[in-house]
Amino acid sequence: MAAAEDKDGNRRLVFLGAPGSGKGTQAQLLAEHLRVPAISTGEMLRAAKAAGTPLGRRVGEIMQKGLLVDDDTMADVVRDRLSQDDARQGFILDGYPRTAVQVETLEELLHELGTEIDAVVTLHVDEEELLQRALARNRQDDTEEIIRERLAVYHRQTEPLVAHYRQAGKLVEVDGMGTVGEVARRLTEALAR
Ligand code: ADP
Repeated sequence: MAAAEDKDGNRRLVFLGAPGSGKGTQAQLLAEHLRVPAISTGEMLRAAKAAGTPLGRRVGEIMQKGLLVDDDTMADVVRDRLSQDDARQGFILDGYPRTAVQVETLEELLHELGTEIDAVVTLHVDEEELLQRALARNRQDDTEEIIRERLAVYHRQTEPLVAHYRQAGKLVEVDGMGTVGEVARRLTEALAR
């Protein structure tokens, strides 16, 4: 059991961080390295919206305002995705959980699947840098007003999860300032510890 855990360790990760923290980029890089899927709930919702699916139509306006999609909808999205074959050997979840309820849902879901989270990565980036990065990214839902709203929503609803995972002994904190390469190196080192 211990050997199996060692061999399989650090393959079920959550990335927790503010919009603009670079977690999407780092999640993608690390996922390639670990050969597990990077699962971005934001990307999934944007894809649903672009495709005009019923889900996409339902969440489009909420996303546009920088608010969070309701927990029940997100539970369905994440359950479907984590149940797919390619997620069985591991995954990096980017953008989920974002609320205390979603933490519970994820725990239940992984319990049903007979597994659990190995580690939760959080990237620390200055508030001013967050805003600059998000603005530079120029995504369609990224006007300054909406970015500020999404930052406020992050501080209010998601940041408290950092303390939760710290207490659970799962938190890996990484300095997210600097180049993509620098952050990636710090991240790999931190996960190896
Ligand atoms: P960010 O750039 O803030 O990290 P994402 O790309 O992760 O944004 O998500 C974009 C939007 O999708 C969010 O602002 C929110 O409306 C919605 N969303 C994504 N993940 C979740 C989630 N776990 N719970 C609720 N809403 C979510």
